[in-house]
Amino acid sequence: MRKKIVAGNWKMNLLDEEVINFIVDFNSKKNSIESEAEIIILPASIYLDTMISMPDWDIKIGAQNCSQFNNGAYTGEISAAMLRDFDYDSENLHYCLVGHSERRAYFNETNFICADKVNRLLENKLKPIYCCGEELKDRESENHFSLVQAQIEEGLFHLSEDELKQVVIAYEPVWAIGTGVTASSEQAQEMHLFIRTLLDKRYGDEVANSISILYGGSCKPDNARELFNQTDIDGGLIGGASLKVDSFIQIINSF
Ligand code: PEP
Repeated sequence: MRKKIVAGNWKMNLLDEEVINFIVDFNSKKNSIESEAEIIILPASIYLDTMISMPDWDIKIGAQNCSQFNNGAYTGEISAAMLRDFDYDSENLHYCLVGHSERRAYFNETNFICADKVNRLLENKLKPIYCCGEELKDRESENHFSLVQAQIEEGLFHLSEDELKQVVIAYEPVWAIGTGVTASSEQAQEMHLFIRTLLDKRYGDEVANSISILYGGSCKPDNARELFNQTDIDGGLIGGASLKVDSFIQIINSF
């Protein structure tokens, strides 16, 4: 059985007080969570400490980014070793996004930079949530499969079987992120199956069937159930709808 996961990517939203209010509100409603999905929240790094320090907060936490370098003169960067070090005693910090389309677009992250980030995270016992997905122009020119194939192969296929098993993949068509336009469940399932088939060809079916592949892109309470019902969709990476406790819980309950 693959792990079902719902991860909330808060991006550059919520200040400290709002983070605390979210946690208090979420904790007061957590009895309404019916699903066994693993729940992850990815706040801005400066608030990881707030989240980790909150009592009764048992969901998993992740960072949104880390440096591709080990350490050194990289002003403004946070290394994977620092993420691990800062949570060394509670071990609540488990995940880190890699290759979100906003980082690829605005910070020029290539597949090879993403591969380095994946390596740094695994060296520090953090699990990468590796994002891939095509822009609208790629889909319109029917280039979407080869683009996603390159993202997967160049970002992940240097890993050993055991290393790959630590990775979660998130398919996020760029044209669906923050736009209100969702991929249809057929479009999403088609790409998820394509990705799983790539994993199967390179690593075999045992590995391919053990990797959770999340869908992201305007996933909301009213479309999550249909998306999560697809054979190869193991949950969601949620942006806007993860900022409100009620919509986030409704999505978590959509399996
Ligand atoms: C995201 O940024 O990963 C995302 C899926 O955003 P949204 O849900 O807002 O489209």
